[in-house]
Amino acid sequence: MATPAPITSQFWNESTGHCDCCGRTSKTIWGDLSDQSGSLAVYFVQWTVSAPEHDPIIDLIIGPWGEGSEPAARVLVSLAYRPSTRGGSFMVVDAVGRRADDRKICGRALSRHEVINTLLAEQAFSLVDALWLTEPRIAEVRDLNRVSCRRSIDGLSSARSGSCKQRTREQDFSQD
Ligand SMILES: [Zn+2]
Repeated sequence: MATPAPITSQFWNESTGHCDCCGRTSKTIWGDLSDQSGSLAVYFVQWTVSAPEHDPIIDLIIGPWGEGSEPAARVLVSLAYRPSTRGGSFMVVDAVGRRADDRKICGRALSRHEVINTLLAEQAFSLVDALWLTEPRIAEVRDLNRVSCRRSIDGLSSARSGSCKQRTREQDFSQD
């Protein structure tokens, strides 16, 4: 099997704001992920600074981004990163209602069950791997592992009690 072409991230910009639930500083970075064939996805990573109990969210808008490409040809897939002192983990979450769930950006935001166990999930995880390897600003997200408080990384139940954002997503799940 041929080695897949490396995917690299290109940083575009960043912004800071405040977490909706606790008012602490939140940060968003965005850019694109591409290989030799061109852009594969645009990423947004949003996290609350020094708050490992809030899962950072990675929004990936996957599809064509070249000249003349249509937003309708792209989909939004969101992943949560759960910091842990044992090393963080990723899981696909509901993308519906995320900020990038916008028809000027993508044709559709996908819910978790539309993504898990599909080729698109594999693609999303390889994009996120590349992001973690090639985006230097991710170091700040990775550092959340070190300040991570003692919380179980097993299952969603622990996350439900740990984060009000997570509760919002759970409500989203029950609507579909
Ligand atoms: Zn908060």
